[in-house]
Amino acid sequence: LKVHLLVYTSDPDRVCAIAALATRSSKDPADLKVSRAVAEKALKVTIASGHHSVLEHANFTFSISGVSRALTHQLVRHRIASYSQQSQRYVTLETPGYVTPDSISRDEQTLESYKSLLDGLWEGYKDLIAHGVPEEDARYLLPNAAETHMVMTMNARELMHFFRLRCCLRAQWEIRRLAFAMLKLVKNAAPVIFEDAGPSCFSGRCPEKGYPCRIKEAAERRLNKK
Ligand SMILES: Cc1cc2nc3c(=O)[nH]c(=O)nc-3n(C[C@H](O)[C@H](O)[C@H](O)COP(=O)(O)OP(=O)(O)OC[C@H]3O[C@@H](n4cnc5c(N)ncnc54)[C@H](O)[C@@H]3O)c2cc1C
Repeated sequence: LKVHLLVYTSDPDRVCAIAALATRSSKDPADLKVSRAVAEKALKVTIASGHHSVLEHANFTFSISGVSRALTHQLVRHRIASYSQQSQRYVTLETPGYVTPDSISRDEQTLESYKSLLDGLWEGYKDLIAHGVPEEDARYLLPNAAETHMVMTMNARELMHFFRLRCCLRAQWEIRRLAFAMLKLVKNAAPVIFEDAGPSCFSGRCPEKGYPCRIKEAAERRLNKK
């Protein structure tokens, strides 16, 4: 899995703080000259009050690669975002690229049989294309494991929501891994906005009542790891 923060709103914390201050000011927002400390405090108070729409002014664009179609199928369920994904219609997948879960790779025999089944599927895919079947139909053979890449843009409000759901131990491991990698990147770019970002339990309430986990401690360890 590779994830890069390609581009984001310049100084996201300040932009969202100006938006927060504008709602309480008689001045033209363009003329609001406040110190960093005042801006940050205003933003924190606004977020704590639940006025999360100010977070929609900060956008973050990621390049995501080396992930499975199983992951992207879950990712695109998040509707407040923009996606551009590698096409299986226009791109012929020459070499088999697939993601292997740890539960499979940890056993040599299981891994061998996984690989040989996938290689067989790729042979079949290439055979179909060689027989004149278009890529858009040959891809019906390709599995959930097939590697893919995409560019995705989300605003900070949706990212907070995404992290609440997908950093949670209830989320599937691959999307959780992606969520944590994204969280590290955006925390660096906007430390105030994402101060309490993470699974729901980071900001208090666990919606997965009764599910025994120590995700909070595990997540904090993961974020502090270089
Ligand atoms: C652990 C886990 C297990 C899951 N299991 C399944 C499963 O078995 N089957 C399955 O189908 N899905 C499953 N999902 C996907 C889940 O149901 C959501 O589709 C996905 O998490 C996207 O989140 P979302 O719907 O909150 O909102 P997003 O699309 O991220 O939108 C953000 C918020 O905007 C609002 N919003 C967006 N669109 C609308 C709308 N049309 N109307 C009203 N409000 C809207 C909502 O408040 C929403 O929470 C699972 C997700 C998780 C995290």
